[in-house]
Amino acid sequence: MTAIPFRLIPLSALPVLFCACLKTPSPPPPEVSESCVWRCAEQSVAFGNRCSGSPEIRKYAAWIRETAAKSAKFKVYTHSFRESTPLGEMLFENIIAEISGKREDFILVAAHYDIKRFHLLRNFQGANDGASGVAALLGMISALQKNEEKPPCGIRFVFFDGEECVNGYGESDGLHGSRHLAREWEKNGLLGKCRAMILLDMIGDRDLTLTIPENCTAYLKEKLLRIAKESGFRGTCAPFGSAILDDHVPFLEKGVPAINLIDFEYGPGNAFWHTEEDTLDKISGSSIKSAADLALRLCWDIGED
Ligand SMILES: [Zn+2]
Repeated sequence: MTAIPFRLIPLSALPVLFCACLKTPSPPPPEVSESCVWRCAEQSVAFGNRCSGSPEIRKYAAWIRETAAKSAKFKVYTHSFRESTPLGEMLFENIIAEISGKREDFILVAAHYDIKRFHLLRNFQGANDGASGVAALLGMISALQKNEEKPPCGIRFVFFDGEECVNGYGESDGLHGSRHLAREWEKNGLLGKCRAMILLDMIGDRDLTLTIPENCTAYLKEKLLRIAKESGFRGTCAPFGSAILDDHVPFLEKGVPAINLIDFEYGPGNAFWHTEEDTLDKISGSSIKSAADLALRLCWDIGED
């Protein structure tokens, strides 16, 4: 490279140089640790039957709060509320861990931490449908704690309670945590600062295929598919071909751009979903790490728009 004395640069070139300086991209997001997410998935499953309203989920919620709060850059707090369910009134608790960014607005990154309630499946682990999403979020929080740079905008990690329904999804059955938070943020004006929502659900399958539902915001899908390709994402990432009702829906309905990173091909014909086959040996730390890395890259991309 040859240095050009400043006075030899034609004046017409200066605005171009100035713009080039302004557009310097910020460093990429930190990488999530595979051993960290795997440890979190194992520890989650060890809490046992973590269905909403159970003594197990209370202990699990305390552990999630304490684990997230070890990352001192994060403000960690809970929103507790009571709602009626087919089993009577139940106490729910959303856990929020927020980190500030270079801008005041934020991205919501979420997963549910309750697991499906079964009376007959005594050994239901919810390793993928529950633990994998929590592990991904805790892995991202730990990675951001160690990162020197602030994220381009704030990130609010939310662990939802009450995603699973008792009988069938409806006004007072299922999606309790996400519907409650969307309503709260609409009332207090925070929804206007939420640039996007990224939901992670069932992202631990060893054979990871992100099946992006139809009911996701188009530009987020385009971004995700591009980033997956560019970053050498280890799994497959493809449109699902139909809508999926999940915790992103209450936010989509209130106008927040949202995307659901979900693998709805868990076992042949999704056969492991909501069965005793949903165990730790069917998931891998590498898949959870890959999905978490992808979500952080998406946050950076949205934040820098
Ligand atoms: Zn489920």
